[in-house]
Amino acid sequence: MPSTQKILIIEDDRLQFRVTERLLANARMARFEVDWAQTFEEGLRLLLTGRYAACLLDFQLGARDGLELLREAREANCHTPVIFLTADSSEQVDEAAMESGASDYLVKGEITPRVLERSIRYSLKLGEAMRELRLLATRDALTGLLNRRAFDALLAEEADRARRLGRSLAVLLLDLDHFKSVNDTRGHPGGDAVLAAVARILGNEVRTIDKVARIGGEEFAVLLMETDAAEGFAVAGRLVEAVRAQPIVLGEGGALTITVSAGVAALPVHGEADATLLAAADKALYAAKHGGRNRAVLAS
Ligand code: GH3
Ligand code: MG
Ligand code: MG
Ligand code: MG
Repeated sequence: MPSTQKILIIEDDRLQFRVTERLLANARMARFEVDWAQTFEEGLRLLLTGRYAACLLDFQLGARDGLELLREAREANCHTPVIFLTADSSEQVDEAAMESGASDYLVKGEITPRVLERSIRYSLKLGEAMRELRLLATRDALTGLLNRRAFDALLAEEADRARRLGRSLAVLLLDLDHFKSVNDTRGHPGGDAVLAAVARILGNEVRTIDKVARIGGEEFAVLLMETDAAEGFAVAGRLVEAVRAQPIVLGEGGALTITVSAGVAALPVHGEADATLLAAADKALYAAKHGGRNRAVLAS
């Protein structure tokens, strides 16, 4: 029994939609459940819901074009595989479709059920591989948190947004206290287990819109959206306390109480750019270490 896949067709021409729908209905290896959007706006809205396995996108959509739609979708972080359906085949269209991130393009009138089905199958496979790659490129393998690279990109983006919209943004840097002694007494695998446990605690303590990253060996960073310095400092204090209050159970040798130090900086008071914010938070973290560790310090 073939599985059913949801396909979005964005096509301004009713007749052409019927043709494509018919082609899909005649596919042999898969069953498709089809939704139809007739306009640019409706198409983009449906695509962004993320409900579809793949999208068949008309190249020429009334006054606007499918390329623009795909670009907007990708900018909104939508990675649904998209196959262009075009009226003509030219090198220009080929090039433009590929550059925009489409997984394939098919020429209307030349499409058979087999061709369409195969294109969808390949697009789905490609989409999965891309998803894996994105995950590998942005995640830290030990903790599953965002990695340094993803964090840097996100911070730059969010700082930019906060500045533009006049919102606040808080950055927390956390560093485990005396972590070397954990490795020394419990071994490197024990140290790794502690890192994973601390990552879980941090993740549990912040809101879902906030971002937690592992940006170094035993260093973490948290990005708190629309959060000012005072609130950021309060959250940092909570995180420090949460880590201390939950002894980490390791295989042998009993539970271990771990502490962290935190530095807090917020946009716009401590800096307007990602680099200045990070530098301010780092300085505050340094002060937390020198102030006796197991504490949060707000940038000055
Ligand atoms: P401080 O309170 O001053 O931060 O003391 P510390 O011992 O934590 O000092 P430091 O930051 O210099 O040491 C970090 C240690 O973290 C050194 C390194 O052996 C260990 N480390 C870094 N990455 C990993 C990792 O992936 N796994 C494990 N187990 N240990 C790591
Ligand atoms: Mg059209
Ligand atoms: Mg460190
Ligand atoms: Mg440390």
